[in-house]
Amino acid sequence: MLLAQFLLFYGFSKSKMVVSFFESFFELQKKTHQVIFSWIPFSFGDLLYILTGIFLFYHAIALFKKRTRRSSLLVILIGINIFYFLYQVFWGMLYFQDPIIKKLSSQKEPTTEKAKILALKYLENCKKTRSLVKEDRNGVFIITDLRAVQKEILARQTSLPKNISGKKAPEINSFKPSLFKKVMNFTGILGYYNPFTAEAQNNSQLPNTYIPFTSAHESSHQLGFAREQEANFIGYLIGIDSKNPELRYSTEYFTLKSLLNFIVEEDPEFVKSVLQQYSLQMKRDRAYEKTFVLKHQGLLNDFFGFTNNLFLKSNQQEGSVTYSYFINLLLNYERI
Ligand SMILES: [Zn+2]
Repeated sequence: MLLAQFLLFYGFSKSKMVVSFFESFFELQKKTHQVIFSWIPFSFGDLLYILTGIFLFYHAIALFKKRTRRSSLLVILIGINIFYFLYQVFWGMLYFQDPIIKKLSSQKEPTTEKAKILALKYLENCKKTRSLVKEDRNGVFIITDLRAVQKEILARQTSLPKNISGKKAPEINSFKPSLFKKVMNFTGILGYYNPFTAEAQNNSQLPNTYIPFTSAHESSHQLGFAREQEANFIGYLIGIDSKNPELRYSTEYFTLKSLLNFIVEEDPEFVKSVLQQYSLQMKRDRAYEKTFVLKHQGLLNDFFGFTNNLFLKSNQQEGSVTYSYFINLLLNYERI
């Protein structure tokens, strides 16, 4: 059955008509799921994952007993089939939507020159916005009203440029703190979307500089943008002109970091000089992010005794592995 499903969905992904059917179906599905799950105060999707884990574990153990082997194997196989089917129907097919880059009027290759101009622009914007937000007693940025940030994200979803997003924004608040935040600190996962419940989870223990933009990113998945870098770009559109300074600062800061990551290979001196031009407030935020990463990396090494740069790797959402498509979208979108 699973093999048949692989072939079926592979076939579907090649048909524009079927993919656009799944796009329309997603609109209905996300709204229904958000109505069902959003009011639950904790992440119901996380609970589902835990229960699924326990269920699978139980049946995996039963595989070793002669008496229960056959029935457990059957249960596991049926379970995997259902899981895979729902995943593809609720989410997987959205990876085959037309890429956003095709919808932009300019489709040039990104250049370091243009990235530098934008980096300087966002450096200035960041400095300004940073002076408007609050900080803790160590002088590090803190969010004072996360609810307001979330409300703003949902409101901004409704006014995205029509040529880029034709998605419906039901403005249902389904942001949840993850139940796995301790684990997330060590894996470097900032947030994730649950395609089975349409909830957006984020790690509430992260340095606050990450949280508003991560929420905007996850909310873009909720809207129906599956690809990581497109979710970054939609998150950028949501946050960059926001009147909420906490959301705007986090977004400008993410954009600046992404630009610097792109520039650094060709011109490390430029990046160094920009880092030096950070305001004192921004420097404190940067130092705090660094300590956070190092601290969790260090503990991870202590616990497991092997070097693990997973945190840095998965931070390469804003790092070097997959940055270029976001940068590509950004540079083609921004007029200088
Ligand atoms: Zn994502």
